[in-house]
Parts: sequence; structure tokens; C-alpha cells
Amino acid sequence: MPAPLLDVADARTRVLHAAAPLPAEEVAIDDALGRVLAEEVLAPHDVPPFRNAAMDGFAVRSGKGDRDLVVVGESRAGRPADVPVGYGEAVRISTGALVPDGADAVLQIERVDDRGERVTLLEDVAPGRNVREAGEDVRAGAHLMGPGRRLTPADLGVLVNGGRAAVRCARRPRVAVLATGDELLPPGAPLGPGQIHDSNLVTLQALARGDGAEVVLARHVPDHAGATRRALGEALEAADVVLCSGGVSVGPHDHVKPALAELGVEERFWRVALRPGKPTWFGARGRTLVFGLPGNPVSAMVTYLLFARPALAALQWAEPPAPRRAVLGERLLPHPERDECVRVRLEDGVAYATGPQGSHVLTSMALADGLAVVPRGKLALVAGDPVDLIEI
Ligand code: AMP
Ligand code: MG
Repeated sequence: MPAPLLDVADARTRVLHAAAPLPAEEVAIDDALGRVLAEEVLAPHDVPPFRNAAMDGFAVRSGKGDRDLVVVGESRAGRPADVPVGYGEAVRISTGALVPDGADAVLQIERVDDRGERVTLLEDVAPGRNVREAGEDVRAGAHLMGPGRRLTPADLGVLVNGGRAAVRCARRPRVAVLATGDELLPPGAPLGPGQIHDSNLVTLQALARGDGAEVVLARHVPDHAGATRRALGEALEAADVVLCSGGVSVGPHDHVKPALAELGVEERFWRVALRPGKPTWFGARGRTLVFGLPGNPVSAMVTYLLFARPALAALQWAEPPAPRRAVLGERLLPHPERDECVRVRLEDGVAYATGPQGSHVLTSMALADGLAVVPRGKLALVAGDPVDLIEI
């Protein structure tokens, strides 16, 4: 008697319960793109660190005074002037250069008659004009960013401005990917009768890498009890997370669950009220998580997105991604017993199914912007209804 179907939300709760955050490590800022921050970062100094010119021109004292000025020096980017600006004086200045003492404004070069040693301002200058104050971007001591943030290119720049050459990030989860099935051939191999190409090994690795994981092992496994046990044993030694596709149904050639039991992996759930993805299996050995994903290519991807992606986020100290809201563009009938993930494309925020939804139709996944969740039951969803949208 197979186990009853578990709610998707309950299944996800069990996954997150088992996903303890990985230790943090020091990461050079050059390598930190996409990594998840594991520390609180405060600005040690103002950014910009000093008052500087927003334009090329002349640093002057503001007001309605004499507009004919003597040029007493030059302040260039990285090379401040060694003189202050007095009455009747100006300092030639470049964008980003320190505004010298005495000056409180910069008049851009286009508004100045520049004769080398002397200049004439063509207009009066208001205080603060073309001056960027110290700390205008960030004040010393301000909170820059905290744990759980996946670092973007702009974040890296902000951290550099905050004086950092390295930051503490969660260690990348080590992921092992196994694809079971005697029918599977590697990419590019000519197909014989009854054979197909192994797409899951590639898509699952790509998904895991996209979610910040390091793939430490990726292997095809024949439908053979001993081979399955050996491959899973190695994967368990090497990885924080094992993604194993196929072989979790109840057929005579499905060896994954018995092998996992023999290896001491404790089952946390099997079979979810989800379409596609019903036979999904999840378990743990110590801190190592094991996902037995269904072999159908769409099911493997959908169940990865629903269960493995949140786990990888949690291992990296990040919030599991929350679904967005979208509006349906067409009527969708629910499955009576299972929540359905319908592959949809979005047009101006309105979701339309990408065509045939069979769990072997991988092109409909490639066309999709997300998965619309149609709750199980009797109630059809109609155009205009809101739906949860899981991003792909
Ligand atoms: P299984 O979950 O092993 O019963 O496989 C279900 C379906 O998915 C079968 O049609 C398999 O041929 C197919 N399948 C299993 N593994 C893969 C894979 N790695 N790549 C592509 N299709 C697969
Ligand atoms: Mg199989």
C-alpha cells in the first residue's frame, strides 16, 4: 500500500526543516557574485569619503563677489590641490577631485572664460553647486547589507566602496546529480531502439549551478541494484545534496528507494499531491539531503524547483524564493487530488499555458516563464483569476 499523498506545503516544510545552513567562509570580492552573504556589513567610513567635484571646472567661493579670479592651483582626481581657495581665487578641478578648503562650489568649465592664469566666471555661483558631499551615498557606520542577500554586481561595488576586499559567505552547497535509467544515453550519442538522451543530468546540474551550488559529481546510473547503491553511496560521501532522477516509482527496476534505505538515508516523505511530480521522494542522512526526483524531464524540473531550490537557498542562508502573483489569461481545470503546476508564459503579466502539459514535453518548459499553481479540487480557474506563479 503506497503512502498517502502529502500536501506540497507540508513536503516543503519537511525539506526546510532538514536544511541546516552551511558554515560561512571568506570569499574574495572578485569571486562573490551570486554568493549569499553570511555577515552584517557596516560602512567603516563615508562614501564618498571626501567632498568632491561633480563636474570639471573651477572650485570657488560661492556668492556675488568678484567674478575675475586668480587660478592658484589644481585639484585632480587622486591628487588634491595643496592650497586653499581664498577670496578672489579659484582652483582648477576635475570631476571626482577633492574640493579644496575655502571653496564651497564648482562652476563647470563651460560657464567660465578660462585664460590659464586667470578666469572670469560667467555667472554667480550658489553654495554647494556641483559639489558632492562626503557621505552622500553612504554614511560612516550605516548598515550596508546583511546575511541572506545574494550578491549582485551592484552589491559587490557597494561592498568595495565599504572598504571590503572579501566578505563572509555561506559555503556553496556541494551537489551530486545522478540520473538512473537503462534507456539513457549521453548527449550526442546515436540512439538505438528504445533509447533516449539523458536530459535530466544536464538540466539538473544547470539548475543547481544557477542556484549557487557546486556540482561535485554527475553520473548516469544503470537500473541495477548494486550499481545504484554504489553510486548513491559515493554521492552521499561527496555532497550536501543528492539529486537523483528516476527510479523512485514502484516498478521492478526502481532501485533507488531500497538502496537509500540500505545506505541509512531516512525517508522524510514519498509521494506528493502534485502534478507533475507525484512520486517525489525526500530523505536525509545526517545533514545530507537526498531528493529522489521523478525521471520524466518536466517532473524532474518542477520538483527540483518546488523542493530542491528552497533547500539550496536555506543551506546558503537565503530565504526560499516566494511565489509571485499573476493573473490567468485562460480557463484551467484543476486535478481532483493534486495541485498542478502549469507551465505558463507571461504576456503583460497575464499567464497562458505553453501548450501540451505532458510531463515528457520538455519544450513546454523551455517556452515557460513560470509555473502557475492550480490548486486541486473541483473549482475551475478562469481568465482574470489570480494565481501563484513559481519562477523558473
Ligand atoms: P522513471 O522515473 O525512471 O520511471 O522514468 C520516467 C520517465 O522519464 C521515463 O519515460 C524515462 O525514460 C524518463 N527519464 C528518466 N530519466 C530520464 C533522464 N535522465 N532524461 C530524460 N528522460 C528520463
Ligand atoms: Mg527509470
